[in-house]
Amino acid sequence: MDSEVLKKFKESGRIAAEALNYGSKLIKVGVKVIDICDAVEEKIKSLGGQPAFPVQISRNDIAAHYCPEEGDITVLQEGDIVKLDVGAHVDGYVSDNALTVDLGDNAALVKASRDAVNAALKLVKPGVAIGELGKAIQQVIEGYGFLPVRNLSGHGINKYTVHESPSIPNFDSGNKEELIEGQSIAIEPFASNGAGMICERGNPTVFMQVARKPVRSPFTRQILKDIEQYKGLAFALRWLTKTHGVGKTKFGLNELIKAGVVRGFPPLPDVNNGLISQAEHSVLVFDKPIVITRFE
Ligand code: MN
Ligand code: MN
Repeated sequence: MDSEVLKKFKESGRIAAEALNYGSKLIKVGVKVIDICDAVEEKIKSLGGQPAFPVQISRNDIAAHYCPEEGDITVLQEGDIVKLDVGAHVDGYVSDNALTVDLGDNAALVKASRDAVNAALKLVKPGVAIGELGKAIQQVIEGYGFLPVRNLSGHGINKYTVHESPSIPNFDSGNKEELIEGQSIAIEPFASNGAGMICERGNPTVFMQVARKPVRSPFTRQILKDIEQYKGLAFALRWLTKTHGVGKTKFGLNELIKAGVVRGFPPLPDVNNGLISQAEHSVLVFDKPIVITRFE
């Protein structure tokens, strides 16, 4: 890995970790979710990075992809199990990390995913079979009496790319493919006391540009011009409505979705509405691996 690239990954990870830690302290009963998301995104920028994707706060049975839109009045409740997912980039180099805060009595569920990510991180080095990471994650989570979420996985991270190969399973998938020196990956186990499978439900508020195509409507062209500044990274509905208003933004986004230019990512609940915890770190694969999101 180029030393300039290494430096940017480390800087990105440091910012994502600091922003995650900052956000975790804002997670308290009675606080509005949207206020935390705004504050953490500002924190990333104040530290010299940019969000690699919108800050997401998914509660209870939702594993991921809950991102408040403008006017969202959701307030954290007593008993909530709260996942905070934060990504940063520096010149495009992406880091991704997450944690769970328990506002009820689900400490063991939180510990299950945290111990699982640490168990997997201990195995990271060039030549290890990817399935071995999933096996370690599954063993730890099942040891607590919970299930790993099988249809969510870790992923490669790269320049202006949050999800690329390899996919890092959260169960013993038997994948013999090996980690390669210099790879950058995010490992993110989810533990569930329900089905251990998620589905898509509800309207997306997180979107991503997936193709480049000319569009006809001047409205939509304005929206697309704004979207292009994210260079293929995910963005929040809220970021666009601040500039263009709700009506115009939704009109433009719908056109772009129909044209196959933009894709939405709906919230991901457990299919049996079990509670879910998550822990995530980004790591560079070397003989001495570097966990870039480790908070010092
Ligand atoms: Mn994440
Ligand atoms: Mn991730």
